Amino acid sequence: MLVTPPYFARLFYPEATWRKNTDIKKIYLTFDDGPIPEITEWVLHFLESENIKATFFCVGNNVELNPTIFQKVKDAGHKCCNHTFNHMSGWKTPNKEYFDNIEICDKYYSNKLFRPPHGRITLSQYSTLKKKYEIVFWDVISFDFDANTTPEKCLQNVTEHTRNGSVIVFHDSIKAKKNMQYALPLAVKFLKEQGYEFGLL
Ligand SMILES: [Zn+2]
Repeated sequence: MLVTPPYFARLFYPEATWRKNTDIKKIYLTFDDGPIPEITEWVLHFLESENIKATFFCVGNNVELNPTIFQKVKDAGHKCCNHTFNHMSGWKTPNKEYFDNIEICDKYYSNKLFRPPHGRITLSQYSTLKKKYEIVFWDVISFDFDANTTPEKCLQNVTEHTRNGSVIVFHDSIKAKKNMQYALPLAVKFLKEQGYEFGLL
C-alpha cells in the first residue's frame, strides 16, 4: 500500500483535490469516519491544545448517532464534510444507491466537499459527482487504521511524505486509535518545527 498516491491515480481524477498549494508551507489535516465518542473528543481536545483547525469527513450514520459530538466539532471551528451515510465503497455499490447515500447527508453540511470512503469511486461515479461536489482524496495517508502498521511506522508515513500543500489523512475511529493517538501529536510537533501551518480545506 502506498502512503502517497501514484501519479497515474491522480491522472484518473484530474479535477479532484489531492494536494493544494505547492509554494507555501501550509498543510491540511483531515480526520475520517467519525464522529464517535471518546476518539473524536480526544482529537478535538488535542487540536484545541495545538490551536489547529482540521477537516472531518464524517460518516452520516455516526453524525445521526452522535449529534452532540458532531456539534462540538463544528462549534470548535473545524470543517465537517460528506463521507457517505454508510461508508460505502463506490466500487461495490450501484451508482444510484451510491449517489443517494451521499445526498441524504447533504443536510448536515454547509459545503460540498466529498471524500469517497476507501478512496474507491468509479470513473462514472466521479464524472457525475464532480459536477456537484469537490472530490477530495489525499496526498499522504497515515495508515493509522491498518493493523499491520505500527505506531512508529504511522508517524514515519506522515513525517517522511508531507510537503507543501499536503492533504493528510488520519482517522477518528476505534480501529485507528492506537496508531493515531501515538502518531498525531508527534507528527504535529515535527511538522510545526518544520515551519508548516495548518489550514482548512
Ligand atoms: Zn472512511
